Amino acid sequence: MNFEFDADSEEMRAMVVAFAQRELVGRKDAARTAFDPGDFRRRWRLAGAQGLVGGAVPLEYGGSGLDAVTSSVVMEALGYGTEDTGFAFSVAAHLFASLMPIVEFGTEEQKREWLPALCSGERIAAHGITEPEAGSDALNLRTRAERKGDEYVLQGSKCFTTNAPVADAFVVQAATEPNGGFFGLTAFIVEAGTPGLSVGPVYDKVGLRGSPTADVHFDGCVVPARQMLGAEGSGASVFSASMKWERVCLFAIYLGAMRRILESTIEYAGERAQFGSPIGGFQAVSHRIVDMTLRLESARLLLYKAAWGLARGSQDEIAPALAKLAVSEAAVQLGLDAVQVRGGLGMVEGEAETFLRDALPSRVFSGTSEIQKNNIARALGLGNSRRPRRRR
Ligand SMILES: Cc1cc2nc3c(=O)[nH]c(=O)nc-3n(C[C@H](O)[C@H](O)[C@H](O)COP(=O)(O)OP(=O)(O)OC[C@H]3O[C@@H](n4cnc5c(N)ncnc54)[C@H](O)[C@@H]3O)c2cc1C
Repeated sequence: MNFEFDADSEEMRAMVVAFAQRELVGRKDAARTAFDPGDFRRRWRLAGAQGLVGGAVPLEYGGSGLDAVTSSVVMEALGYGTEDTGFAFSVAAHLFASLMPIVEFGTEEQKREWLPALCSGERIAAHGITEPEAGSDALNLRTRAERKGDEYVLQGSKCFTTNAPVADAFVVQAATEPNGGFFGLTAFIVEAGTPGLSVGPVYDKVGLRGSPTADVHFDGCVVPARQMLGAEGSGASVFSASMKWERVCLFAIYLGAMRRILESTIEYAGERAQFGSPIGGFQAVSHRIVDMTLRLESARLLLYKAAWGLARGSQDEIAPALAKLAVSEAAVQLGLDAVQVRGGLGMVEGEAETFLRDALPSRVFSGTSEIQKNNIARALGLGNSRRPRRRR
């Protein structure tokens, strides 16, 4: 075993941290003000020029051909370098939930048509599966895609679609066979501006405010059959491909953000004095910080182990689910601890409370913590279909 990254990865990490600290500075008043699409797009183009928004896409389609481990290194550096975790989340959702399914399922023509501009930072993508009646039960969605000759007509609504307010392209899941379960869904690439497609107002979220989220409506939206992603009935596989990447590489952002908050918490505990000594000298405070370190380091090991498996084509379902679960639960607890160490100052606007608000949604998107546990239990052979053993 080797716990070191190679020199190229270390160099990439340093470059991304420096870039993010210099160019991806979040707006100080972001928690109080409306989302600014112009500024978002400006920073997106800079991130694109830096190779951040298409890193895992193969070189021939405009990306950098990074594997899952190196992609995680880059995302961790991004999360460390910018305080705007929402912006970093948007970049990762674009890359892992939209571009990678196009890489895996797209035809040669689709890859050449869509990927270069999505990798360069010129265009932005969103992936919509969630609907008001289909959240954790994602495959049970209502949006219909009905074939009419060489076209499909989409009818229905998506909610919680990351990047929707700024997206140029949507990867959308719709039912081609209602009640068809896993094989009833089909994915489509739909261009923004297609008649019948409309986007709702930006959500006022508790955290990740630098990432715009909205509903997407399809009202008789006609999509040419050549924009189908994968075969008819393979939508759930397309979705699984996006989750496979997202549950590992996207969550590396939180590792970087946790490291940043941990470092500033240690600094604060060393400087803030009460009862004549730094609060970090009190065991209750120092042990809290040790627990923060333990959670971060153990979640990080799980994430890189899952990334290592992904880079080798592993089909293991447990490692990505454990990584997602560990990172998101660690992030929320670390956020609570960082706020507590700051006392009253933790209650006013600042990096700890911002991080806590940014951490909360991580237990919900990409499958909630409860759904990850269900998936792990099923992979362990503890699914509902298994009859309980009789006690002897
Ligand atoms: C910031 C953010 C960004 C998002 N981005 C996207 C996006 O880009 N595209 C997209 O399609 N979706 C996106 N989502 C939606 C996200 O995937 C869903 O919110 C998530 O899957 C949960 O669905 P739900 O909100 O409907 O909750 P529900 O499914 O209604 O769950 C409510 C509660 O019940 C629990 N629960 C439900 N079923 C079970 C069960 N079987 N066993 C145990 N507990 C259960 C859940 O764990 C949860 O605690 C995003 C969400 C957020 C918060």
